[in-house]
Amino acid sequence: MSPAGPLPFPPERPLWQQEAREEFPIVTAHPELAYLDSAATSQKPRAVLEAVQTYLTTSNANAGRGTYPWANRTTELVESTRERVKEFLHDPEPGRSGVHFTSGATEGLRTVARDWLVPYLRDGDEILVPYADHRANLDPWLEAQRLLAERGVQVRVQALPYQAGSGDYDHVALRQAVGPRTRFVAATHVHHVYGGDMNVHRIREAVGPDVAICLDAAQSVGHLPVHLDDPSLDVDFVVFSGHKVMALPGSGAIWARNVRGPAFLPEGWQGTPNTAGIVSLRVALDWLDAIGPERVAHWTTMLSTRLTDRLGRLRPYEIVGCQASLPADSALPAEQRRRGIVTFRHRDIPSDDLGFILFSHGFMVRADSMCQAGSDGRDASVRVSLHVYNTVEEIDRLLAVLASLA
Ligand code: PLP
Repeated sequence: MSPAGPLPFPPERPLWQQEAREEFPIVTAHPELAYLDSAATSQKPRAVLEAVQTYLTTSNANAGRGTYPWANRTTELVESTRERVKEFLHDPEPGRSGVHFTSGATEGLRTVARDWLVPYLRDGDEILVPYADHRANLDPWLEAQRLLAERGVQVRVQALPYQAGSGDYDHVALRQAVGPRTRFVAATHVHHVYGGDMNVHRIREAVGPDVAICLDAAQSVGHLPVHLDDPSLDVDFVVFSGHKVMALPGSGAIWARNVRGPAFLPEGWQGTPNTAGIVSLRVALDWLDAIGPERVAHWTTMLSTRLTDRLGRLRPYEIVGCQASLPADSALPAEQRRRGIVTFRHRDIPSDDLGFILFSHGFMVRADSMCQAGSDGRDASVRVSLHVYNTVEEIDRLLAVLASLA
């Protein structure tokens, strides 16, 4: 939940945010640049960088294998990070869940599809998957269907319905799409292009208690509080990227709840885990918890609201996605829904050119079709995605440049 009360507007820059920004050496070393691509990957605070260096220079060894002190220490770090992930997600029953480390959300979703969904489904079952989210949350489910078909098991894949123009799922249509053979839904928590909260609590309401849900939380974990002890977030899998939550590239995790049959263990020999990445994840989660995901959400939502409000008044720009039409019964006020991600197009300037122009002014943004499933590459747009280190001053500088291009 976001903190109660109105967003500060015009915002003061709180001390905690100033101090947090100072923690990012790459950010403070380049005051002339503004990193606005945190949805792709986040920058890393000093605590994470130092912890990795300390680990690699004091106790680097393999996990779960040797019995000498460095190996024991590494095993202990890996195992305790599993518990740290559960704690970070406010897992209400840590004794009934498991955490598996991956290289990121893509591998996480693929692992759930291959190692859990394929053995779980039976001939004639149905699954619902998103066709307009990140392709990392579509390809693995279609691949699972193909694998099963090769074994003579026919599974029907349906598109998770969207509300036209809102960027949110259509929870009413979803209710109608669910049948007695529906076993599984794959959904996204926060959309990586529209920045909208996909109201996943309504998915459980729509599908009932027996359908397993896998949540692609790549854009929510670390950006807003994700509380699995909240009954409205009754999902079976949460998949996220470590590198988007301030840990090292090549890190990520799957959290799996052992109910509705999804006892989940990845199949086969697992090999050496990314121990340095796992260490970095643990420290990153400590760092984020110390800041407070509520404050991160509040700050980035305030920045993205400032950007959308002003950009929306500049004629040649079209803001892409959900802010345009929110469901009337949305539980969250409109200004709290665009979660630090703003995507737009200029009427006359192609988005990739706009990306280059913005970089010539020091802004690092994403300018393409952002791995959106179903994209033919011709629908490129520019995405600004924010994190705790971004400032109002960066947004205002960006707005000034965008205004000059109007
Ligand atoms: N899902 C969403 C919503 C994403 O935004 C991304 C990355 O941008 C992914 C999945 C893939 O994450 P990763 O890069 O960790 O594989």
